[in-house]
Amino acid sequence: MTAVQSPTSVLAGVYGRVGPVFVRGAGCELIAEDGKRYLDFVAGIGVNALGYDHPVIRNAITRALESGLIHVSNLYRTEPGERLAQELVQRSFADQVFFCNSGAEANEAAFKFARKWSGRPGIIAFSGAFHGRLFASLAATDRPDFRRPFEPLVPGIQIVRLDDQAAVEAAVAASSTGAVIIEPVQGEGGVRPIDFEFLKRLRALCDAHRVALIFDEVQCGLGRTGTLFAYEQAGVSPDILTLAKPLAGGLPMGAVLIKEAIGAVLVPGDHATTFGGGPFIASVALDVLRALARPEFLDAVRCNGEWFGSRLNALAARAKRVRAVRGRGYMWGIELAEPAAPYITAAREAGLLVVGAGASVLRLLPPLVATQGDLGRGASILESVLA
Ligand SMILES: *Cc1c(COP(=O)(O)O)cnc(C)c1O
Repeated sequence: MTAVQSPTSVLAGVYGRVGPVFVRGAGCELIAEDGKRYLDFVAGIGVNALGYDHPVIRNAITRALESGLIHVSNLYRTEPGERLAQELVQRSFADQVFFCNSGAEANEAAFKFARKWSGRPGIIAFSGAFHGRLFASLAATDRPDFRRPFEPLVPGIQIVRLDDQAAVEAAVAASSTGAVIIEPVQGEGGVRPIDFEFLKRLRALCDAHRVALIFDEVQCGLGRTGTLFAYEQAGVSPDILTLAKPLAGGLPMGAVLIKEAIGAVLVPGDHATTFGGGPFIASVALDVLRALARPEFLDAVRCNGEWFGSRLNALAARAKRVRAVRGRGYMWGIELAEPAAPYITAAREAGLLVVGAGASVLRLLPPLVATQGDLGRGASILESVLA
């Protein structure tokens, strides 16, 4: 293999890539070109739910190639996408599915569907939200630093403070509001599980004002919190739900799950994407979905996740610089009283990959196949780094 000569010159400078060059993955570990192994609690930012080199994905890819169909286009019917949609519908609140290629695309489609259904342009998002980097999803993202250089963004999208109930009520009730979008567990915003009572009130408000409730489960969905969908634990279901990160086992795929009433207003031409739901990727996603949805699998995520949370809380009680530990399942944030970046570097040097969420939060997204042993090993490394 030819060595990469300059790691930054030929790639656009939008990423601050750091650390080693990774050449292999196995289970919960990434292996660098010098042979050093890293326990990976980033998992491709929540994408690699089954870790690396998992037999389900390996076999799914091999089988998906047998038909000879990688792409056919949405002009024609193919089987895998229809079967995947059917399984998503059977396992959720939804009646129909639209496939796309990323989380931001899923949210953009959700906004279009909600506007068409409600006939109203207003979209409400919340403080701490992250919904993507395209013009509408960025407008719904509460990060002035991401937004400012690219304004004007899409009009009609407003960010409301989560902790201001009166403002939330007024915003949802406004006559121009047609949709509300929220992550049941905020990811980039610092790993903040949204209070179940808040989600219930939001559901009631949306019902009262005929506003579409969109749950963005791009990061927290598909088993990450210990149930297939995070909303199940809140006892509240949305009108529209977006998925992406882990859906196709590392291949790019997004999905928008919708209720029948929303689907009823959509006609050919309302939305489209060339690659969305192609047979190869849908076939892989079908096997990934079945693996993630197994009750024993989800039980393990719930049970190990609880154990991991108490381990992190115990660690926090001993480390003065930890301000709070938040999370659910295999999605945790450790908020520090200082910038997180030096600790992310220190953890990597000690063989553990973690990612930030905002300036002062260490975010842990272990592969959902991580055992209690793997989780404990990561926690021990963190403990020594934070001591
Ligand atoms: C990552 C993420 C997105 C954007 O997904 P992309 O595939 O990067 O476009 C949207 N919403 C949430 C909650 C995310 O975590």
